[in-house]
Amino acid sequence: MQAKTRSVAPYRGRLAPSPTGLLHLGHARTFWTAQERARTHRGVLVLRNEDLDRARCKTEFVEAVFEDLRWFGLEWQEGPDCGGPYGPYSQTERRQFYVAAFERLRAGGWLFRCTCSRQDVLRATQAPHVGEDEPIYPGTCRGRDGSDTESATKATWRFQVPDGEAIEFTDGHYGPQRFVAGKDFGDFIVWRHDDLPSYQLAVVADDTAMGITEVVRGQDLLKSTARQLLLYRALGSAPPDFYHCPLVTDAGGVRLAKRHDSLSLRALRAKGVKPEELRGSALA
Ligand SMILES: [Zn+2]
Repeated sequence: MQAKTRSVAPYRGRLAPSPTGLLHLGHARTFWTAQERARTHRGVLVLRNEDLDRARCKTEFVEAVFEDLRWFGLEWQEGPDCGGPYGPYSQTERRQFYVAAFERLRAGGWLFRCTCSRQDVLRATQAPHVGEDEPIYPGTCRGRDGSDTESATKATWRFQVPDGEAIEFTDGHYGPQRFVAGKDFGDFIVWRHDDLPSYQLAVVADDTAMGITEVVRGQDLLKSTARQLLLYRALGSAPPDFYHCPLVTDAGGVRLAKRHDSLSLRALRAKGVKPEELRGSALA
């Protein structure tokens, strides 16, 4: 008798820091969870350098991020520093993947070209509700195919969401999730006027091409997962699983951001704090 072989793909997780500043405790905790999950599943952890935003990313932060990650006790098996079969591992070197995904979406009729300014969008919508990441796009440019555009990637392109459709998924940490397209989020940008893919498009293209089986990231990206599931469907790719982590807050309950310099790993390390004291749930 033959034992049944597992058809499940081997676990591949990723750490995706953005070198726009020093890493703080919030990032490190999420990355630690990602590493724990990869270890539990005897999987591989990929380091992807999310350096697309040229204006905000700095080379000195790339080095600092790597050093801080190592100090914290994180280890990865593939990355810009050690290579691997799914490279390159820096987003600035992966443009071909983003253009391919963009062209595929455009050819499939999922996108429209948008000429609205940020002020136009704000004027046409009610003020965003508290906690919303962006105002819901009012649909002004829907129906425009953009074939008049000479250089397609030098314009803003949005993904037209299926109004009223509930996007449901089960998060590994938070359980069942449900977001309604057109109500909880609107037509979102996939290509920016400055000729860069949006965050949504870049991570979907990368997670697909890198064979990522589970995405571990902060709770603030739960709603983005609904957007990204629409991209996976339009691209005909199987989405990974998702595991969102609670955000670390400061003593006043405010979410940690890069401006919390005192909680950067650098500052904590300089104060003599040990990484093992920072990995648990209690805030130093
Ligand atoms: Zn528009």
